[in-house]
Order: sequence, then structure tokens, then C-alpha cells
Amino acid sequence: MAAGKGSGTRQVLLVTGGSRGIGAAIVREAVAAGYDVCFSFRSDREAAETLAASFPTGAGRAHAVRGDVADPGFARAFFEEATGHFGEPTAVVNNAGITGRIGRFADLPVEVLRQTLEVNVIGTMLLSQMAVRRWEAIGQTGNIVNISSVASTLGAPSEYVHYAASKAAIEGFTIGLGKEVAASGIRVNTVAPGTTLTDIHAAGGDPDRPQRVAANIPLGRCADPEEIARCVLWLLSAEASYVTATVLRVGGGL
Ligand code: NAP
Repeated sequence: MAAGKGSGTRQVLLVTGGSRGIGAAIVREAVAAGYDVCFSFRSDREAAETLAASFPTGAGRAHAVRGDVADPGFARAFFEEATGHFGEPTAVVNNAGITGRIGRFADLPVEVLRQTLEVNVIGTMLLSQMAVRRWEAIGQTGNIVNISSVASTLGAPSEYVHYAASKAAIEGFTIGLGKEVAASGIRVNTVAPGTTLTDIHAAGGDPDRPQRVAANIPLGRCADPEEIARCVLWLLSAEASYVTATVLRVGGGL
């Protein structure tokens, strides 16, 4: 599954929200596979810079960029920073995402609803649009992997219905865009993780959520971030060359 090393041209991967959690696991797996990785973070500079500095020479390389995916200027700035550092990106992982506050939908403030949709949906769409525009303009093939959630089909009642809806939007977007750009040699797929051991649950106000829901997962446990990251890397690889416009569910049976 090596990307950069031995394949002639180096593969340059963009990962949003790569400083922690699933995104950081994607960065680690991609660098180990030989990609040069430009990853973004929003606020935790220390986590991002510690990760970027952690890789041995001889693997791929990593570079951290600060930015909010919901910012309309972010997509262009992220591509240009990566291009200046490593060359034109060849793949994008839209990983950055938030649940917003956990609770009943009737109690949800409009600000949380808007922010969740802006980050999860608009952020994914804007970076994907930038990738497609640039790659089609220069005749380059490419690869986009989005991150949704099993919540997209389970609905997450009493937890985060708005988040589930945002992830369902990503899946519909993936199917449509994947078909639209297939003739340009651009593959677009989504990984839909189940509950994964990261800080996202604490950030939403429910740090014990993974332990609580584990008993309802057929495999009997939550995922480690690396188990999600390895599926993303497979979709990015040539081994998945006939896979596009689809959703790979990685939910331990959910
Ligand atoms: P996490 O541990 O909370 O990490 C989130 C990452 O995204 C951090 O690097 C954070 O940067 C970044 N980020 C957050 N908001 C951002 C914004 N507006 N712009 C740019 N970067 C932003 O999250 P995670 O659990 O790894 O989740 C990653 C993805 O998997 C999300 O799309 C999430 O919805 C999805 N997912 C997670 C689970 C799960 O159980 N963990 C399950 C299904 C799907 P800072 O470090 O600077 O804050």
C-alpha cells in the first residue's frame, strides 16, 4: 500500500483535523506509507506541532497548518500551503468534524446547529470543490475520502440528531460527487466510523459515552483510531482503484 516510496512520484495528502484523534491516526498511517502529509488543526497548535515533529527521516513527511475548515478562504490557503511545501496535493481526507453539544434536538441552540453544519458539511464541500477545480484544470487524477459516521443511518436520537443529519449529507454528497467526477479520474468515497476512542465525546460534554455504548456494539468494543485510519488508507490506495461514490461502514457491526 506504499504511496510515495518506490512509486515514482510522491503522493501529497491533505488531512483536515489531523492533529488529534482519527485525523492524527490517518496522518501517522499515511506518513508510514510514504505520503507527504499536510494536515490542518483549528486551535491545538502544540498537539499539531508535536505530531508533525514525531516522524523519523526516511518515511513521508508531515506539515501542520492552522485553519478553520468552515472559513471560506481555508480551502485555497490549505492547498497553496501544501503545494509550496510538498507540491500539488494528490489526495484529500475531509476528517475535521464536531458533534456540537450532546442532548435532545428540541434543546439545541441554532448557533450549535449552524456551526455543526458549517464544519462538517460546508467544510467538506469547499475543500472537495477546490480539489476538483484544481485537478480538473491541470488534468490530474485524484482521490477524496470523507468521514461520516454510523450516526448517518442510526439517527443518534437524544444524542445529536443534527450531527447525524450532517453526516448523512456527507454520504449523499460523496455518492453524487463521486459519479460526477469519475470521468476525470477522481475517486470520492466516505468512511463511516462507529464509536471511536477519541476526545470528541468529551468535547460534546459526554466523556463516558464510549464506555456506555460499547455493550451495544456487536464486536463488543469501540474502535481504536488506527482501525479507522487503515480503512481510509486502503480507499486512498491503488488497491481500491475500482471503488468510488460509495460509503465504507466501519462500525464493529453497527
Ligand atoms: P477529535 O478527536 O475531536 O479531533 C478533531 C480534530 O478536528 C482535531 O484535530 C481538531 O483540531 C480538528 N477540528 C475541529 N474543528 C475544526 C475546524 N472547524 N476546522 C479545522 N479543524 C477542526 O475528533 P475525532 O473523534 O477524531 O473525529 C474525526 C472525524 O471522525 C470527525 O469528522 C467525526 O465526526 C468523525 N467520527 C468520529 C467518531 C468517534 O466516535 N470519535 C465516530 C464517527 C465519526 P484541534 O486539535 O485544533 O481542536
